[in-house]
Amino acid sequence: MEISFRGKHALVTGAGKGIGRATALALARCGARVTAVTRTQADLDSLLQECASITPVCVDLSDWGATEAALQDVGPIDLLVNNAACANLQPFLEVTPDKFDQTFSVNVKAVLHVSQIVARGMKARGSGGSIVNVSSQASQCALRDHAVYCATKGALDMLTKVMALELGPHQIRVNSVNPTVVMTEMGRLGWSDPEKSKTMMSRIPLGRFAEVEDVVNSILFLLSDKSNMTNGVTLPVDGGFLAC
Ligand code: NDP
Repeated sequence: MEISFRGKHALVTGAGKGIGRATALALARCGARVTAVTRTQADLDSLLQECASITPVCVDLSDWGATEAALQDVGPIDLLVNNAACANLQPFLEVTPDKFDQTFSVNVKAVLHVSQIVARGMKARGSGGSIVNVSSQASQCALRDHAVYCATKGALDMLTKVMALELGPHQIRVNSVNPTVVMTEMGRLGWSDPEKSKTMMSRIPLGRFAEVEDVVNSILFLLSDKSNMTNGVTLPVDGGFLAC
């Protein structure tokens, strides 16, 4: 299946590392003009060394005002990937208010905010568009020490559905991908312990974690016109974990 994003402008958040970085590079390879948003300048510098056509935006998405200012001049966006997130792992009884606020602020509030900015433009232009939120299997399955992370991803899935409902009439589709563990920096944080990773892997029918490319390919599909009638879905990229 050939996917081309020629003539499209894509914005990817959390594009400095992991899944977001690979998504930004894949979109550029498929012909899109790409704006990459993240908060560490060094990551943007190295991204531009890999792909000089990418436009960098350095901002901490948990800062509402700074995000508004940073995105005001990015121009019309056709494709949005809300990928940035943080995972602060704490046992439930030790969850602290600062980690709660920080995690919700990036994983949910920033998704709402960036999507508002982008979707207002899509609506005003009447151009339609496609938005993919990067959720997780953790939105639908309890994971030890992941109380706040799971709660943010559960909230994100419902945000995806309400956005699909309200933006659909403007031909803006909104879907999510819900991956299992991917061994990025974030993945290593939670699953480097061989005992933990063995237990998790044994619950995945395909018997392995996801590769970054597995997630990127599903994101590209949902962004593309190959999924034109798909709106409001939460697509597991989990080797069957959520099916069991
Ligand atoms: P990484 O930690 O590898 O990358 C996350 C990226 O988001 C980094 O570039 C990070 O920048 C950026 N980011 C985080 N917070 C902010 C912020 N406040 N403002 C701007 N940028 C920010 O994560 P992954 O690639 O693994 O995760 C990507 C998505 O996939 C996330 O939504 C995650 O929840 C989801 N996911 C990941 C899984 C996994 O096992 N890895 C499994 C299921 C879902 P910096 O490094 O500078 O903080």
